[in-house]
Amino acid sequence: MAKCIVCGREAVVKIEHANASFCAEHFKQYYERKILRVLKGLNLENKCILVALSGGKDSVSLLYALNRLKKDLNYNLKVLHIQLGIGLYSKESLEVSKQLAEKLNLRLIIFDLEKNLGWTIPEAVKVTKKKPCSLCGIVKRWVMNKVALEENCEYVATGHNVDDIDAIALKAMLTYRPEDIERTSSPILEPNMEVNLVGKLRPQFYLTEKENMLYAQFNGLPIVETTCPLASRSKIFKYKGIWQEIDKVNPVGKINFAKTLVEISKKLKENKREVQQLRKCVRCGMPTYGRDVCAFCKINEKVSGVERHN
Ligand code: SF4
Ligand code: ZN
Ligand code: ZN
Repeated sequence: MAKCIVCGREAVVKIEHANASFCAEHFKQYYERKILRVLKGLNLENKCILVALSGGKDSVSLLYALNRLKKDLNYNLKVLHIQLGIGLYSKESLEVSKQLAEKLNLRLIIFDLEKNLGWTIPEAVKVTKKKPCSLCGIVKRWVMNKVALEENCEYVATGHNVDDIDAIALKAMLTYRPEDIERTSSPILEPNMEVNLVGKLRPQFYLTEKENMLYAQFNGLPIVETTCPLASRSKIFKYKGIWQEIDKVNPVGKINFAKTLVEISKKLKENKREVQQLRKCVRCGMPTYGRDVCAFCKINEKVSGVERHN
């Protein structure tokens, strides 16, 4: 058995892309340092970060790590759970989120779509005929931004890992959606309060799904066991499958791809086109790219049966 590269004790995990083996303790240290490295470029002193907690391995690990790193960077943490109304999956998500928030002694803000908007994700999918994950993504982004503004948080942190980022970017390239690449390809997006847009943090940008799972396991964290029943209708999992094949050929490929995206996105930002197109939605006041009414309001109006015409 390989030895931990830090302490020489028996290793319990090998991280291929880092070409390193670790014992559980030093894996946790390695993991938290990777998150710290992403956040270090920012001045988070006395800032508020709203963490989106679904109860999955990624967000559970994210919250736990950010809570541990709080003392190093002096930020405040708030936790948001969005109840999507997706049957058993959502019930279990809520239970796990409550358990973890309680364990960490953090208040859990719950935004229930049914209670607040009068509809759930499955209902909205039925009415709009949109692809579930794409609709769900629009709704979650809108809710996170709204709650962050209400709670005076400068940033929202989400549990996107490198497998998510690479799959989204690959899909965006192969389906010719350059705007999706620009929006995904950075671990940090600064707030733009002129259009009510809070900043976004993706602290696990260079961490894999496997690393998030190990971190959750080594810390004994609760995780949702049920998978979302709507997930199978998303193509993103097929793109993740393609990455598994690439991984066999080049285990560092995933990380290098993400690094390349960040470099490209920096260049794109020098040309501020996309930012200038950002404006406030005429209905809800939240940010929207290029149109008067945001994608969330279009969905909301359709599902609530109040289709208005400008
Ligand atoms: Fe939403 Fe898709 Fe995730 Fe289910 S799998 S919670 S529909 S984004
Ligand atoms: Zn060790
Ligand atoms: Zn709107």
